[in-house]
Amino acid sequence: MTEGFLFGAPQGPWVRVALDMPVRREFSYEVPEGMNEIQPGCRARVLFGSRYLIGVVVGLDPHPPEGVKLDRIRPVAALLDKEPILTLPLLRLARHMADTTFCSWGAALAAMLPAALRKDRKRRMVKTVEWVGGLDGAQQKLLEESFPKQERALAYLKKADGPVEVRLFKDRTGLSDSPLKTLEKKGWVKFAKRKEYLNPFAESPVSKGSIPTLTAQQEQCVNEIVHSLEARQHQDYLLFGITGSGKTEVYLRALATCLKQGRGAIVLVPEISLTPQTVARFRERCGEVAVLHSGLTDAERHDQWIAIQEGKLRVVVGARSALFAPVPDLGLIVVDEEHESTFKQESVPRYHARELAQERAHLEKAVCVLGSATPSLESWCAAQKPGGMRLLELRSRVAGGALPEVLVVDMRSEKPETGHWLVVSKPLEVQMGKALEKEEKVILFLNQRGFAPAWHCKICGGSVHCKQCDVALTYHRWRKKALCHYCMEETPPPRVCPECHHPVGLVGVGTERAEDTVERMFPKAQLARMDRDTMLRRESYEEVLRGFGAGESQILLGTQMVAKGLDFPDVTVVGVLNADTALHHPDFRASERCFNLVTQVSGRAGRSDLGGRVVVQTWMPDHPAIRFSSKHDYRGFAEGELKEREMFGYPPFGAAIRFQFEAADVLKVESMAAAAAAQLQEVSAPGCVLMGPAPPPVEKIKGRVRRQILLKATPPDALRPLLPVLYELCQKTGVTVDRL
Ligand code: ADP
Ligand code: ZN
Repeated sequence: MTEGFLFGAPQGPWVRVALDMPVRREFSYEVPEGMNEIQPGCRARVLFGSRYLIGVVVGLDPHPPEGVKLDRIRPVAALLDKEPILTLPLLRLARHMADTTFCSWGAALAAMLPAALRKDRKRRMVKTVEWVGGLDGAQQKLLEESFPKQERALAYLKKADGPVEVRLFKDRTGLSDSPLKTLEKKGWVKFAKRKEYLNPFAESPVSKGSIPTLTAQQEQCVNEIVHSLEARQHQDYLLFGITGSGKTEVYLRALATCLKQGRGAIVLVPEISLTPQTVARFRERCGEVAVLHSGLTDAERHDQWIAIQEGKLRVVVGARSALFAPVPDLGLIVVDEEHESTFKQESVPRYHARELAQERAHLEKAVCVLGSATPSLESWCAAQKPGGMRLLELRSRVAGGALPEVLVVDMRSEKPETGHWLVVSKPLEVQMGKALEKEEKVILFLNQRGFAPAWHCKICGGSVHCKQCDVALTYHRWRKKALCHYCMEETPPPRVCPECHHPVGLVGVGTERAEDTVERMFPKAQLARMDRDTMLRRESYEEVLRGFGAGESQILLGTQMVAKGLDFPDVTVVGVLNADTALHHPDFRASERCFNLVTQVSGRAGRSDLGGRVVVQTWMPDHPAIRFSSKHDYRGFAEGELKEREMFGYPPFGAAIRFQFEAADVLKVESMAAAAAAQLQEVSAPGCVLMGPAPPPVEKIKGRVRRQILLKATPPDALRPLLPVLYELCQKTGVTVDRL
């Protein structure tokens, strides 16, 4: 044996590292001497090309990797964890996520880790910005005329009326912080820093309510779940319980059992219902819980993550990504409102948290409970099949008895007062009047923010579109501006049609206009509006809900934000101002979404013995989504809808995959799409149908043109031969592949 061989040649062992890159492969590195702790699940810093990257070790190899020259293999530069920060089941879950969303293992793993661990850096302070006044009329005018961005930034801060996190400001306005910096130099705004909260919800008060006695139906559900927990077996449940039937109480009892066993649990809720109200309910019964939501800063998220990993916080409540919390000895996963589309991530990796929750429960021998009053058709179908998911049912409301009576108002036959756009129909006005007179409360739902959703030209029939995006501009009256909801570009309100130069008029109703009308109709009542334009600070949501609960306002008007999860016993009237908006999207789930939304909003009414009424205003009273939701008939709706899905090969019967292409010009995007279509066609197998390339409903966003292809595969397995092409397409820039 020569010295050269002893000291010069690589010795191993080797590790495979997954890096957060689109390429679907792992990379081999040599483990240098002294790095004995390295094992799968640890983070490692490695040299890739000329950059250092942080990746996750996914495999340990005693033998050198094949097909690579050994002297080309670099050593691991640094090991960042002495113990794995990702457990084996989480590594496997990431692998599953990568395979089902077509991304790389590294990208899937990156989605699991908090940003602070991905980037190896921490922050400790949150930057805020606040308006401090001192600006005269002339200066204001100058801003408006010459510095529109500064003017817009200032208007936001004035309206927010208090310190706003810079991050939130950027997210909401689409502006950078440069106008803020200029405004600071002029002395009109000031920056400040505030310490991050360690546990952002720890301050909120916990009421000590008594533990209710379970109803017979609740008890039956709890018993089943507890049985599976005690057997320490994997089992999926679908808890189908009408609104107000006490699903949360079922989760709480299951949680109690799980904690008693010394195990941990994860409760996923849609971001929108992650209110202090919800969190308080869990803290009251489970002790300290970790709360993971998108409003956390990197450092806050990091701290929570570590506390969970160390077993200090055994219950995690959070939105979508909380599913990846490193809970040791996981016993239970609950997905509340499992039908919600916010459980689907709309950027890489495009995973569905409901699906992954079931997979994680399977990998960890845990129990998974999906709960909803309007189950997704995927879950509903799975619960009908023997041997799979078990169906648990809550058929009646805990308090208040029956579900509210729903009155469908056909807006085609309602006449607006002259000169007014019809917002509130006569029957709704009557119901609201009665409720307010008795000092009861009203919730009004309208899924359109701004004053009016479009400018319409009566001569050519067109509407005024954003220059960058293929969407109609919305009028926001508080700014007196036209706003594009896609690129957030603001422009002066148009007066004439850009095509034919005739005057244009505002059509439709947004929350601003509805607020106006309702205030004129009921001048004595206090109205609180809840949409993106009024929720300007982190605390806004909580403040409005607290005020509504305490009776400071009697009418709550808002978008999606008021539709779900709210539990106010003295709300007796709910008005759905326009039930049809959800139906106009050319999406195979449009009807399901509309049904869900109307059912969920209706569920806010009559949650006590005061009873309740719902008024649904619609231009399509005969649509099945409206007909069945007004009768609270989930089964009827599901049956009809599933028949259609089966006929057209849509999920849950087949797989539907959308390929989207985007480029700066039409020719480029069309050639990209055509090439992909040809490639797919070549490997296409029986059971697969390709549609397109075609322009998507919104053809242009931020100046980039888009095309799409839809691929259906029935049964979903028919997709298999196409997978290599799918994986390849995913790695291309300008292409997104999305399993719908
Ligand atoms: P869901 O989530 O099914 O819409 P909730 O869990 O919000 O229903 O329950 C509705 C209300 O009923 C809540 O205020 C809850 O505290 C109360 N509740 C639940 N179970 C019981 C029970 N067994 N006895 C009395 N009140 C209950
Ligand atoms: Zn735009």
